[in-house]
Parts: sequence; structure tokens; C-alpha cells
Amino acid sequence: EQDVTEYRKSLAIRTSGFDVPRPVKAFEDCGFSTALMNAIAKQGYEKPTPIQCQALPIVLSGRDVIGIAKTGSGKTAAFVLPMIVHIMDQPELQKEEGPIGVICAPTRELAHQIYLEAKKFAKPYGIQVAAVYGGMSKLDQFKELKAGCEIVIATPGRLIDLLKMKALTMLRATYLVLDEADRMFDLGFEPQVRSIVGQIRPDRQTLLFSATMPYKVERLAREILTDPVRVAVGEVG
Ligand code: ADP
Ligand code: MG
Repeated sequence: EQDVTEYRKSLAIRTSGFDVPRPVKAFEDCGFSTALMNAIAKQGYEKPTPIQCQALPIVLSGRDVIGIAKTGSGKTAAFVLPMIVHIMDQPELQKEEGPIGVICAPTRELAHQIYLEAKKFAKPYGIQVAAVYGGMSKLDQFKELKAGCEIVIATPGRLIDLLKMKALTMLRATYLVLDEADRMFDLGFEPQVRSIVGQIRPDRQTLLFSATMPYKVERLAREILTDPVRVAVGEVG
């Protein structure tokens, strides 16, 4: 126990919550398949960043997480890698029934960045990734979603539009990520985020990442996460 505490300290990580899984030191400790390990190596990731060290085992255990860490700390892989494992654990993949993983991000640029990272890890498995955000043809995105995918990465407004158009259903979604929650709220997306969360089954796994935790974000986290583990890296949170 003392060793774990010291190790967390060395990573400048603070955690709170019940029965927090211990942080890993290497990607090899995560139980990833060879295909995923190869994809990680291909990305040039030699070892997990501090937030990945602590968040990966927690997310892989199926727990909800509140992750508080600055930009550039490697949060994307912390939720994308377990999402691939989560999807591959599903008994059967039927694309027509809608995505399993749903990721909301505040801007099209961020959604696109996550898309590029998710694609790299999804590719070896033939997992389909769709990115939907403003500034692109809604009809093209409608068709893309209709064709089916396991992962959708979206800005909240566009996802709501496409849900209304019945381009997809959330019936199969069990892995929800709210990335940069504070920025989504700054941009006024709280109602859209709440509407999306309300359309996803309550027994989903939910991950919320934010650089800061203003009251509104804290309140949402309390409402939509179940028995979460809070992971804070560095000076934030
Ligand atoms: P955040 O979402 O916290 O702002 P990102 O997930 O965008 O951070 O990662 C920031 C940068 O670090 C990206 O260029 C990403 O490819 C890189 N990165 C992520 N994880 C690792 C790792 N384990 N080793 C090396 N580079 C990494
Ligand atoms: Mg990010």
C-alpha cells in the first residue's frame, strides 16, 4: 500500500474514490492484446504518461472516472485504448444498431484530433470510427452514420441534430466520454450534453475529462457518474 502511495506521488497523481485500482508502470501491465500493443508501439508511445498510468487500469476495470489534467497530458489514449478493449469485449458487433463508444468534444478541431487517434487504434480490429461536427455536410454525416460504426466522436450540437434526424440510435452505446467538459460548458453546450447523456442507458461506463472543475461541471459529474474514481494530475483540480 505504501509503495502504491509513493508511486502515485512520483507521478504527481491524486486519486479519490473507493477501491482505486493501482497505477500501472508500463503498457505491458494493462493486459492489452498484441494487436493493440503493436499499434501503441507504432505510435511511438514507449510508456504511459502519468494520467495514463493511473487512469488506464481504472477505466479497464469498468469504473467511471473523473479525470482532471491539463492539455497535453495524454488523456486521449487514456480513454481510447480502454474503449477499444470495451468494444472487442462485446459478444457481437452489429453496426446497424448504433455506436458502442460515444465521445463528445467541444470543438471540431478537438473532435478531429480524437478521431485521428482513435482510428489508429481501431484500425487493426476493423472497428469503424465516425466523426461528426459542424462545418461539414450533415447529409454526408447522416449517410456515414447510417452505414454503421462502433465509435462516434462528435460535437454536442451536431450529434443532437443527427439524433433528431435518426441517423443513429444510442441503444447500443455503453461507453460515454465527455472530453474537455469545462470547455463544452463554456461554449454553452450544457443542455446538449445533458440531452445526449439522457439518451444513453444508465448502466453505461462514463468518463469525464476536464482541465478545471467549475461548479457546473462538478454538479454534472455527480449526477451522471456512478461511484466514480477521481484522478487529478499535477497542479490542477
Ligand atoms: P490531452 O488530451 O491531455 O491534451 P493528448 O491525448 O492530445 O493530450 O496527447 C498529447 C500528445 O502526447 C499527443 O501528441 C499524443 O500523441 C502524445 N502522447 C500521448 N500519450 C503518449 C505516450 N504514452 N507517450 C508519448 N506520447 C504520448
Ligand atoms: Mg484532449
